Amino acid sequence: MTSNMTSNTGFLYVVATPIGNLSDITERAKRILTDVDLIAAEDTRHTGSLLKHLNISNKLISLHDHNERSQAEKLIERLKSGKNIALVSDAGTPLISDPGYHLVREVRAAGYKVVPIPGACAMIAALSSSGLATDRFVFEGFLPSKSGARTKQLEVLKNEPRTLVFYESTHRIVDSLTDIRDVFGEDRTATIARELTKTFETIHTDTLENLVTWIKNDSNQTRGEFVLVISGNEQALSADESNADRMVDILSKKLPLTQATSVVAEITGERKKPLYQRALERKNK
Ligand code: SAM
Repeated sequence: MTSNMTSNTGFLYVVATPIGNLSDITERAKRILTDVDLIAAEDTRHTGSLLKHLNISNKLISLHDHNERSQAEKLIERLKSGKNIALVSDAGTPLISDPGYHLVREVRAAGYKVVPIPGACAMIAALSSSGLATDRFVFEGFLPSKSGARTKQLEVLKNEPRTLVFYESTHRIVDSLTDIRDVFGEDRTATIARELTKTFETIHTDTLENLVTWIKNDSNQTRGEFVLVISGNEQALSADESNADRMVDILSKKLPLTQATSVVAEITGERKKPLYQRALERKNK
């Protein structure tokens, strides 16, 4: 049981809701949404429809980006008086490119318990079905809407070795994908995950160049909601490796290359052989 009947103060439940397919609501989410005293929703009309579908009637209060701070204070008062509150967003897991961060932070800071009720999340659904590396990944949310700022942000991420996950909308999918290809290169593998859990669910993996061609040639593929999963830069060196390479380049002006790499390997702890091989490759360029 998740009930806190023995507690004098209320709990805040962070409840995930479906990202398309309404069957993805969990039993626990249904029970919490029924049992709490109040549901804080990003869009009360949207959540009202979900509750209607689930045959749940409960009190709704709006909590979105523009009123989160003032609502947080009110909600903490309700917790203080022993009321239980559920936080939901329009789709998926609240706080993941959705409102709720300020509320959760304030509720925890005020000493009240925050309980996650996990469920659908477009990022995780896309990543787990993409076929790309899942051992390490970075979630970047939405890229900037203007191409200049977007390109700048992509330049920062270009050498990221971990898998990258972005959210994107129908309005910008073609432009963003084109910018990603231009900055990350044509050959990088990526997955477009569109309309997950819905009728036109499409999960398509190819090189960035082929994906750009594919999406431009079929306007149906630009409709709906998107997650972009991009392979990390496998060739990219870590900051430590780049520094070690720089040291080899400086030292090799005074010492034979084998000696320069030995010294740098000893100082930095990097392995000698790859240091030497990379130095040779740079010389032969
Ligand atoms: N909190 C949500 C979650 O847990 O995934 C994300 C909310 S964010 C405002 C909305 C974005 O998530 C969409 O623009 C899209 O990029 C992605 N998204 C949501 N549902 C999706 C779906 N069914 N298929 C693909 N992407 C989806």
